[in-house]
Amino acid sequence: MQAFDGLILKQIPFKESSKILHVYTAEGMKSVLVHGAKKFGSPYLSSSENLNLVKFQATGRDLLTLTDADLIEVYPRIKADLERFTYAQHLAELLHGFGEAEYDHAKFFAFTLKILAKFETEADYQVYAFIFELKFLFLLGVAPAFTACAACGKKDELTFRVRSGGLSCPDHLEGPAVTDAAFRWMRRLYQIDLKDPVVERPDEAATVEIRRVIDDWYAYHLNFRSKSRSVLSGLLGY
Ligand SMILES: [Zn+2]
Repeated sequence: MQAFDGLILKQIPFKESSKILHVYTAEGMKSVLVHGAKKFGSPYLSSSENLNLVKFQATGRDLLTLTDADLIEVYPRIKADLERFTYAQHLAELLHGFGEAEYDHAKFFAFTLKILAKFETEADYQVYAFIFELKFLFLLGVAPAFTACAACGKKDELTFRVRSGGLSCPDHLEGPAVTDAAFRWMRRLYQIDLKDPVVERPDEAATVEIRRVIDDWYAYHLNFRSKSRSVLSGLLGY
């Protein structure tokens, strides 16, 4: 038997009334089979929703079988707001998409819960998605170059470009340049410590541009675009 806290990222129907949960934990991704989860009256019906943080008890090895579940956090405000929920689902898809990658899962699991707590409590939460997505790039080994040319390390006459891998000198330019305002915000958000409150926010123009740059970065460097991001563009208008 093992016990662990996990965030439900995805559910897959299994046989008639069961499902398999894909759960992010301090040890990385785990799959948990829940017998009868779809049956009315199942004690696990409500605890097996996406974006629930659950204390699991399970048996087995590769595919774990649930023996008990206790809800730790259900994020009611996120669930009640379609835009907020879709944005959180976008982060869940990112985690799920790269859940098998090798990085410090214990640290990033704790970080993910802090970001979700901000989604739950802050009116203007989008900046926390940016922080999550920028820091995740570092773990995935494709962090933007924020201090010197990505190709040669030169520190003068730099502009920031997705295709160049971040800052680039005049000899290593690829693709269109990002505005200075968006670049400065991204560098700041990339380096931010969540212990310090984020008081200021990028203005609307910078916000739209940062969203586009992060999307382009994941698409160009990781070939990734979430389904939720497409839904989100309908809700946000960008
Ligand atoms: Zn260069």
